[in-house]
This record gives sequence, structure tokens and C-alpha cells, in this order.
Amino acid sequence: MLTDKKALVTGGSRGIGKAIVKQLAESGCSHILLTDIAFPDGEDACASEIQKEISNSNTNIIAFKADASSLEDAHASIEEAVNKMGGLDILVNNAGITKDNLLLRMSEKEFDDVININLKSVFNYSKAVLKPMIKQRYGRIVIIASIVGLIGNPGQSNYVASKAGVIGFTKSLARELASRNITVNAVAPGFIKTEMTDKLNEEQKANMLKSIPLKRLGTPEDIAKVVGFLCSPEADYITGQILAVDGGMTM
Ligand code: NAP
Repeated sequence: MLTDKKALVTGGSRGIGKAIVKQLAESGCSHILLTDIAFPDGEDACASEIQKEISNSNTNIIAFKADASSLEDAHASIEEAVNKMGGLDILVNNAGITKDNLLLRMSEKEFDDVININLKSVFNYSKAVLKPMIKQRYGRIVIIASIVGLIGNPGQSNYVASKAGVIGFTKSLARELASRNITVNAVAPGFIKTEMTDKLNEEQKANMLKSIPLKRLGTPEDIAKVVGFLCSPEADYITGQILAVDGGMTM
């Protein structure tokens, strides 16, 4: 259980991020701040929609507009979280994008955007959260990587570089923070059904399915449950790990 814990989830308004917010709420968090680069219907509407979808009425959901690729926005999010929630115990670096192309056709912008949103965002938020977590001598940082960061994928050199980057970052930061009782772990999802993968065509999806031993796509909840575990007391002795949640794809 995560009773009375306070969490921040980047990119938490939909997809895997939203499932993580709901899982942390159901596990007992008292406050969760979710960030996103845009809230088409406003921050309050997003927060109250998620609030309605969770059964734990003791959780207070807060939405905050912030671009994960901006260090300034990351500091503002952490400040908002600490001020409004009275502390911060859990950081989930989830925000991410794809801009797929073969390297021959990939533009510099496609490369930079993916690195900035997927990799630099993890630097931004992890750096901004250090002071409050070190001060309280407790913290749980979870980073959403991808199995392609372990095995590569044609047409995704930018995305794969960003995810391989966060895997290295996870291990280094785990070593830096272990003595402060802060654990840092990554979850590496396989092929999960969200808007990110809905973009793939039917042939790509069929090929992907053939490579999954458990013969189904993952759900955002499959990932969220593992994130919840890594933040729980059951995982207190786990740090610097990259946990693949992929239906057996990379076994
Ligand atoms: P998604 O459905 O596209 O959701 C991504 C979330 O990130 C959205 O809420 C999006 O906000 C937000 N976001 C994008 N750019 C941002 C920025 N600059 N600042 C703040 N938030 C931003 O994707 P998903 O499938 O849930 O992916 C979540 C994470 O899992 C990503 O890190 C992804 O790489 C990873 N992952 C996914 C899969 C998969 O199969 N789906 C597999 C492996 C890893 P908007 O709504 O405003 O765009």
C-alpha cells in the first residue's frame, strides 16, 4: 500500500500515464499531481474527470500544465507539488513521444524533439525532485523506458536512443541516490495498446503480435501495476533495475 504517499506523474492525462495515476490512487496515495503539455478542456476538468474514475475518494488529483522538456517547467511542477501536497515521495517520469522515420529521412527536428521530450525530461524532473527527496531521506523514482531501448528497432533510432539513454540514466542515478534511501528503477513496456501504438498500421500490429509469447498486446494497466509495485514497500530493496513488461517479447 502507498497510504498517504504523494506522487507526481508526467504526461499523466492519458494512456499509460493516466493508468499510473489511477493505480497510485487505488493504492492509497493521498495526493497525485499529473502534468501534461496541454489540457484542451483545462487542468481542473482533467483532474475532476480522473477523480471520478477512481474509487479512493481520499486521493486528491491535481493537474498542472508543464512541458516535460523544459527544466524551468519541471522546477515549477515540483514546486507546485511540494506547496500543494506538502511533500513529494514518488516521481514517475512517463511523458514521451514518437517521431518515427528511417535515419535516411529523419530530420534534425525529429531527432531533437524525441530526445528532448523522452530523455531530457527525465533529467529535468529527476534533478528538480532531488532536493525535496534528499531532505526527507525517502524517494521512489520510476522511469518509463521501452524494450526497444534494450533491443533496438528500425525506423526509431531517435526513440531508441532516448530510451537506451533513460536506461543508463536509471542505473547511474540509482547508484548516486542509494545512500539517501531513494530508489530509481525503470519499467520497459513492450507493445501496449494506447494512442501511441494506435498509429501503427494493421500489418505492423499483426507482425508485432507474432513476436509476443503471451499472444496479446499489453494494457496501460499492465504497466501501471508494476509501477505501483516498484513504489510500494514490497520493492524497498530493489534499485537500478530495468523491468521488462512485454508479454515475454525480450526473454
Ligand atoms: P501516449 O498515449 O501518446 O501519451 C503520452 C503522454 O505524454 C500524453 O499525455 C502526452 O500529452 C504527454 N506528453 C507528450 N509530450 C509531452 C511534453 N512535452 N510534456 C509533457 N507531457 C507530454 O503514450 P503512451 O503510450 O501512454 O506512452 C507513455 C510512455 O510509455 C512514454 O514514455 C512511451 O515512450 C512509453 N512506452 C509506450 C509504449 C506503448 O506501446 N504504448 C511502449 C513502450 C514505452 P498530450 O496528450 O498533450 O499529447
